[in-house]
Amino acid sequence: MSKKRILSGMRPTGKLHIGHYVGALENWVKLQDEFESFHLIADYHVLTTSLDTSDIYQNSIDMLIDWLAAGLNPVKSPMFRQSQIKQHTELNLILGMLITVNRLERNPTLKDQVRDLNIEHVIYGHLGYPVLQTADILLYKGNAVPVGDDQVPHVEISREIARKFNNHFGDVFPEPEALLTKFSRLPGLDGNAKMSKSLGNTILLSDDAETIKTKLKKAVTDPQKVRKGDPGNPEICLVYSYHKKFNPEEVKEVEAGCRSGQLGCFDCKMKCASKISNFLEPIIEKRKYYENKIDEVKNILSDGETRARKVAEATMDEVHNKMKLG
Ligand code: SF4
Repeated sequence: MSKKRILSGMRPTGKLHIGHYVGALENWVKLQDEFESFHLIADYHVLTTSLDTSDIYQNSIDMLIDWLAAGLNPVKSPMFRQSQIKQHTELNLILGMLITVNRLERNPTLKDQVRDLNIEHVIYGHLGYPVLQTADILLYKGNAVPVGDDQVPHVEISREIARKFNNHFGDVFPEPEALLTKFSRLPGLDGNAKMSKSLGNTILLSDDAETIKTKLKKAVTDPQKVRKGDPGNPEICLVYSYHKKFNPEEVKEVEAGCRSGQLGCFDCKMKCASKISNFLEPIIEKRKYYENKIDEVKNILSDGETRARKVAEATMDEVHNKMKLG
């Protein structure tokens, strides 16, 4: 029996951080053996919140290098830019006829973004973001999409649109399922629940040991624990949540030391910095390799785009036939 297919993607906004790794990439690497994976560099999706495209190509290359360094295998899974496969925009147009504006306005993810990003007037493309995302998935007949909780409403919209198309024109698309990513997101260095480039609270996958130490020195901790000797509460400290992920073998010791006061925040942070550096070492090594082999990276992209385009063309032939367009 052939493997089920998944479509996973990210917006290219530059080098990735450990939050991307924990929240998505680590999972994608595991899934690439079980599923036939397609990895989308969602460059058109960047336009929904920013019209500045000056760095979009370089950001795409940086992100691709991070994907490869983290362990995604380009032989198994094509990696490609959305803008280079024209069928994404064509299918987006067709699918946009199968959903109402009211339904899109009820999308809770959109409401959260409008609030978080302080958006005064929602543009048409942003409202239609889940339709383009549906086209991204259905073009490759994705059976599942690895997502965090916040993306589940989008997958539900994709299922509705796929159902509507199939009912009206005939079966072409599977109804994609959300494949929930287990690990919750990592908090940022400033204590914000989300690590994000725009908030400037990240540790990059490409940060060296000294940079990580410097960043962690400034990390927010339990405000009640001012000096060594003061008892702390690790549950409200983001450094402790990093220990849980990157230093699981010592996490109990860290917790006890924090609560008793025997462990000071400086030592705790430096221990954590060193564990994160150790964790990232093989990724950074691989990253350096690809940075020095930029032609190889471009070939990987070009090969991924050729493979993706072939699948996309076949799907659109089916769509045209069912719709009696060709
Ligand atoms: S000792 Fe560690 S876990 Fe406890 S508050 Fe300080 S940095 Fe956080």
